[in-house]
Order: sequence, then structure tokens, then C-alpha cells
Amino acid sequence: MSTSTAPGKPTEKLGLFIHGSQLPPDGRDLIDVRDPADGSVIAEVANATRDDLDRAVSDGWDAFRSWSQGLPAERGRILNRIALALRERTGEFARIETLDNGKPISAARADIEGSARYFVFFAGAADKINGDQIPLGLGYLAYSAHLPIGLVGQILPWNAPLQQAARGLAPALAAGNCVVVKPAEDTPLSALALARLAVECGLPPGVLNVVTGFGEEAGAWLSEHPDVQKVVFTGSVPTGRIVNLAAAARLTPTTLELGGKSANIVFADADLDLAVKGAGKAINANSGQNCSAGSRLLLHESIYDEFIARLTEQNSRLTVGPGLADPDLGPITTREQFDRVREYLAIGEQEGATAVSGGVPVEGRSENGYFIPPTIFTGVDNTMRIAREEIFGPVVSAIKFRDEDEAVAIANDSDYGLVAGLWSTNVSRVHRVALRLEVGQVYVNEYYAGFAGGVETPFGGTKNSGFGREKGLEALRGYTQSRTVVIKL
Ligand code: NAD
Repeated sequence: MSTSTAPGKPTEKLGLFIHGSQLPPDGRDLIDVRDPADGSVIAEVANATRDDLDRAVSDGWDAFRSWSQGLPAERGRILNRIALALRERTGEFARIETLDNGKPISAARADIEGSARYFVFFAGAADKINGDQIPLGLGYLAYSAHLPIGLVGQILPWNAPLQQAARGLAPALAAGNCVVVKPAEDTPLSALALARLAVECGLPPGVLNVVTGFGEEAGAWLSEHPDVQKVVFTGSVPTGRIVNLAAAARLTPTTLELGGKSANIVFADADLDLAVKGAGKAINANSGQNCSAGSRLLLHESIYDEFIARLTEQNSRLTVGPGLADPDLGPITTREQFDRVREYLAIGEQEGATAVSGGVPVEGRSENGYFIPPTIFTGVDNTMRIAREEIFGPVVSAIKFRDEDEAVAIANDSDYGLVAGLWSTNVSRVHRVALRLEVGQVYVNEYYAGFAGGVETPFGGTKNSGFGREKGLEALRGYTQSRTVVIKL
């Protein structure tokens, strides 16, 4: 693998972002940031020390009083400005995201729009976080208020770096909290760029600090920090457990958005044209690196063969290559994840499943890039590892079912419970099945929620997929604490 820097790409050395400034690296240890399309180093970021993290947290607290006590409408105005600026600078942000994460440039542009949508949505909510008046009878006035929590620590994964940052930041800031963000060490660039942009848009210094570093250090310190009052973690199940345990030791509440092994169920009465298209998008979007990917394809036995043939043909037309060439699938984001997906391809074969691969290379594809073509495993049963473990790549496991009860049983027979897809033209069946699935979101006759990331729709999991909800107005509950005031008149 090449370790050289690449011409035409940024090779900056970036320090931490604290108190409204992008600091110089100042002799700190640096972490290489690589372009997964060719493995070249595109930037270096600071590897934060414990003192750095303490400084970011205490600076956040210094900013908290005036931010939380300021006019909610003014917070909304600043968030709206951030959204506007993101939209104006979509090209610049999309390029950063594509170089850092690998995703096709058009998908990166969609992520920037999705990120802007979070800021718009929660900007509008900032002055509508109403409490209740509680009837205690004539002699009393009782009410509840939803107040900010304080300093929130946000730990991010690498699969949709800017969107994941915006998803937590927008409601946290709207509600009056200050935030210290720890991006994934592999993809820190867009969070740093967002922090710079937010300050240009009027966000006061200290309200948002970004601390780059490794998970076992900066991430762990943030999870256990005595002055962090809420930890919001998106990432894998094992790390989620570690974060939750560290936070629990201090009774710090957490929101955990973890992985998934989501069932995408196609009944015989489905519109198959729609379902084939949707099943492809469900697993191949972002090269399968979506927590909510439809990675178990449950097909009624009467349509199984036809569906696999059509999906295989569809996959064979997809292009795979560097994100800047705007293929259908970009590279896998990290070397480690690339090796992991390849290991699962071998595991599937060992378990007796058959892999059908497709995907046309895009011209200019680099030999050093982490490319995996879209792959379908047939002959899978739900006990196999490729049906139970999250692969996090463009690899779908196709499983047959006989009837509705068996489809629900297979779907629910999982350690995970994030989302499910459902394809049917029978309205009664759709409602019956949607309510029986043990997941946080169900998509019917279209995979993924609505427009630009579905920022309006509460999202989160059950079982090993975590707890707490992001997105939608429900997300605000995770970033506020209610206070009840009872007055004897
Ligand atoms: P990961 O758990 O390896 O890392 C996530 C973050 O945790 C990174 O910032 C990392 O530095 C940090 N971290 C690592 N060790 C830590 C520790 N000991 N203490 C504190 N922080 C630590 O996950 P990943 O590989 O970056 O992301 C992929 C996983 O994320 C997949 O399982 C995917 O399903 C999940 N994911 C979930 C959602 C969701 O919303 N449910 C969204 C995206 C990704």
C-alpha cells in the first residue's frame, strides 16, 4: 500500500479545535488520515492528550452559561446560518468527505444536504422546546421546563462523518448544550471543517470543541470524564459497551447508536421492480457501510430465484471505483474494515453459502484502494455467521421464508434490532408485520426514511442496536432534562 501523499490533495497538519480556533499541531503526535481510494496520506491531525481533552471540556463549560441562557431564537438563527453556509459550500465539504471517507462524490453531496437539514430542522425547534402546565388544583401553579443538560460528549464513527456529527450537534446546540466532539481517527476532517464554519456563522467560542485522537485514549477519556454530563456514542457494539460501562461508573447517561443486521423482507405480493431496486440500495448505498443497511434479504420462496437473478443482473451494472469519479460504490473506508469484509466473504463460502458478485470497475481505480464489488450470498440460513454478524460492506445474505410468521420469526431472530424493510402491496399485512418487528424503524416499499436522511423521523435501536433516539423532535429529549416547579399560591 502506498503511504505517499497524493498530488492535488490536501496534506495539512491540523491541531485541535478549541475555543473557536483551529489550533496549530504544536509538536503534538499526529495521526495520518488516508484516502481509501489509494491509501495515500491526505492530512495529519493531532493525537489529543488527556490535558487537551480536559481543556476542551472546561472551555465548553466556560461557554455554557451564556449559550444556555441566551435567547433560544438566537441559537436557532445561528444554526440556520450554519445550514445555509453548508449548502453554499457543498462542493468543498463534499470533496473533503469523499477524500476522507471514500464515498462517491454525489453521495457526499447528499450527506452535506442531509447535514444542513439537521441544522434547519433543529434551528426551527430551538424556541419551541415547550414544557407543560400541570393541573394540581386552584391553590397551585405547577409546570415543567426542558433545560439543557450541560456539556455533551459526542463520539463519532467513520461511515458518515459529517451527517453523524450534525445529527447529534444540531439538537444538542438547539437545546442550549455545549459539545465536545471526538470524530473517528480515520475520518476527522469534516468535523474540524464544520467547527470552523460554525464559528464563522457566529457560534460562540467553546460551544463546540473538536478533539481528534484515538478511541482507546481520547474516546475513553471523554466517556469517563467527570465533567461530561451526557455521552452520545455512534459506533460498534463492543465499543458501545465499553463507553456505556465507563459512563455508568459516573452515572452519566448515554445514547447508544450501534450496529444492525437488518431484515429486508420481500413478500410474494410485492411490486418486484420496486423491491429489486430497493434491495440494491438497501445494501449497496455507502458500500454497505450503513448501520441500517438491509443486510439480510428475506425472500418468499416463490420469488427467491427470480429475485436473485434480477438483483444479480442489477449489481452487474453498478460501477465501483474512487469516490471522486462518482461511481455507484466507492471504496471501503478503512484498511481494517476492508480486511474484515474480505474475511466475511471467506466465512460465507466456508459456511456453505454461494457468493454471486458483480460490479464494473471505474476507469482510474487504484490497485491500492479498498474496493469490494457488490456481493449476494445465496443459500444462507439464519444461523450462519454471515446472517448474524454485521459485515458492514456491500454483502447481502439472502434467506428464504415460507409464510408471514416465518418471515417475522427470522427477522426477529437477531441480536440486533435497528431497522427493517418491508415490501408488500397488502395494506393489512404491512401494518400487521410492521408492529411485530423488533426494531426502531420500519421502511415500507422504499428503503431508508424519506428525503435527505430522514432527519424528521426518530431513529434508534433495540437489543444490541442500542438505546435512545436521534432525529426528529424526539431527539430533543436526549439533550434536555426536565425540571418541575411546584408553587403553592
Ligand atoms: P467503532 O466502535 O470502532 O468506533 C466508533 C468511535 O468510537 C470512534 O470515534 C472510535 O475512535 C471510538 N472508540 C473506539 N474505542 C473506544 C473506546 N474504548 N472508548 C471510547 N471511544 C472509543 O465503530 P466504527 O468502526 O467507527 O463504526 C462502525 C460501527 O458503527 C458499525 O457497527 C455501525 O453499525 C455503527 N454505526 C451505527 C450507527 C447508528 O446510528 N446506529 C451509525 C453509523 C455507524
